[in-house]
Amino acid sequence: MSTSGSLFGGIPLRDQLHVLLLEDNPGDVMLIRSVVEDQAHKLLWIEHVTSLAAATDKLQRVHFDAIITDLHLPDSDGTDTLRELTTIAPDVPLIVLTHCDDDPFALELLKHGAQDYLVKGQSDGPLILKTIRYAIERKESDQHFAFLSHYDKLTGLANRELFRDRLHQAMSRAERAGKLVALLFLDLDRFKSVNDTLGHLAGDELLVEVASRLKTCVRKTDTIARLGGDEFTVILEGLDAPVDAEIVCRKIIKSLEAPLMLRNHEIYVTTSIGVTFFPSDDVDLNGLLRNADAAMYRAKEEGRNKFHLFTADLSARAVKRMGIESALRHAVERQEFFLVYQPKISVLSGEVLGAEALLRWENPQRGLVSPVDFIPVAEETGLIVPIGEWVLRRACADIRKWHAAGFDHVSVAVNLSARQFRHGELVDVVRQALQESGIAPRQLELEITESLLMDDTEASQIALSELKALGTAIYLDDFGTGYSSLAYLKKFPLDGLKIDRSFIHDLPGDPDDEAITHAILALSQALRLRVVAEGVENEAQLEFLRRAGCNDVQGYFFSKPLVFDKFLEWLQRSTPSRLGRAGNQGW
Ligand code: C2E
Ligand code: MG
Ligand code: MG
Repeated sequence: MSTSGSLFGGIPLRDQLHVLLLEDNPGDVMLIRSVVEDQAHKLLWIEHVTSLAAATDKLQRVHFDAIITDLHLPDSDGTDTLRELTTIAPDVPLIVLTHCDDDPFALELLKHGAQDYLVKGQSDGPLILKTIRYAIERKESDQHFAFLSHYDKLTGLANRELFRDRLHQAMSRAERAGKLVALLFLDLDRFKSVNDTLGHLAGDELLVEVASRLKTCVRKTDTIARLGGDEFTVILEGLDAPVDAEIVCRKIIKSLEAPLMLRNHEIYVTTSIGVTFFPSDDVDLNGLLRNADAAMYRAKEEGRNKFHLFTADLSARAVKRMGIESALRHAVERQEFFLVYQPKISVLSGEVLGAEALLRWENPQRGLVSPVDFIPVAEETGLIVPIGEWVLRRACADIRKWHAAGFDHVSVAVNLSARQFRHGELVDVVRQALQESGIAPRQLELEITESLLMDDTEASQIALSELKALGTAIYLDDFGTGYSSLAYLKKFPLDGLKIDRSFIHDLPGDPDDEAITHAILALSQALRLRVVAEGVENEAQLEFLRRAGCNDVQGYFFSKPLVFDKFLEWLQRSTPSRLGRAGNQGW
């Protein structure tokens, strides 16, 4: 008996089903051969092997529509045979050839991956044919179901459930093999703005494209999953050292660099990646996920389009962050926020021009939390939208009271986050705050950051020009710390910019900061932008700025940010004439 051969010579005809028969008993082979030859030879083309090893070899080279197999082979026995075959040929339906015909046995076979069975000596040609066809259909629906319950419909990547399963398996394999598993946690930077401006369908297209680019960066045996939204994970197995994962991270970042076309828009996506290792970083699966997430946030903080490897200190940060997040969720309703105001003063006249509203959060458990700590969390979670709305309303209402107290020339500056622009309702919120308070639009100044201009999405551009059309003044905050691109200054309808306090700190004396300050002032004059210098703490800094031609100043030298009542007192003290014009040398 040859180990391999076909019952019918040649190659399968079109529409013929190509079947692998795995059976070592010559009598049973004869039986099948005779019924098929009699009744179904036009429809079936059967190749025959006698061992699992021979089947493995065949299956790796040739595609079959179905496998008919005996469970007891020279080199494999019982359900092991099924397990082996489903591993080698996961897509091919399996039919078991057996002497037994009872329901519990059949159920057991199905559980181990077979689609159906044929009872030896009781099967004629049409029955064999029907069984094969049924097994093929059943396999398709099994696979479809398995797909739906384990894969992400949109991208075809593993879903959260399958991901957890795979990570679990990878962890036990790594322990046995003494290798490392790397877990990569990816979050697309600025994905939300694509969704908001181009719509969800475009967002979906973007995710599909990202998924296919990710696939090019890893080995077939590695798992890529989409956990939901724009969060992806990658499991890298069999690593010798962390550096192996770093190589993949670089590859991923690079692969996303090429722009992609969505509805005639050229979109640039970048991703921030957090990486953690098993067994070095933590022992359980949820711990690994938390670590990778914390490392991803750090990567985002470092300026996006970066990867960051988890270190133990990040875990403490993550815990702190989580605490801030849940406390922040209740802060608006529990009225834990308040505003402080820092005066802005004209260098030339000494007049108080207005005040910047700065947000403060006083939490019963945490005390006073710095905006530097909670604003980023509010931005990431989207809580900045309701919080920012509260700030706008409160600031406009407060300024109204100063006007009523006689200081009707002072304006108020409110800081806005890029995320508020993406939300789409910002312009309405501003319009309402202006209407409710009855202040002139010009007396509301909005401070935006370069990251907003860099987003360069249609939604933020439209919102900016609508705000401008409303009549509010727009200032670019923290100028000099970001990209400080001249192109932005020209492109957007800005009224002025604020030189970041880090440049003011070492004035006068530091040649670099002096040069930068001069350059920013020259540039602004050319572009007819007003300039506010932040963080002025002493007379020497003020003198330098006056000579350099700076318009306005803010800083501890004049006043720290003050609560509403104190600010009103300050106004009254430092403004001898009620109009606060000439003769105010109070500072
Ligand atoms: P910013 O808008 O650049 O605000 C100026 C920061 O400099 C304030 O810190 C202010 O207290 C501080 N400052 C003022 N004068 C001096 C000085 O002479 N020396 C020094 N060393 N610092 C000075 P603060 O209040 O901690 O705010 C930090 C940042 O938090 C703000 O930077 C702003 O980006 C953000 N922020 C504050 N309130 C809000 C808000 O309502 N919405 C948004 N989106 N962001 C806000
Ligand atoms: Mg500001
Ligand atoms: Mg600033």
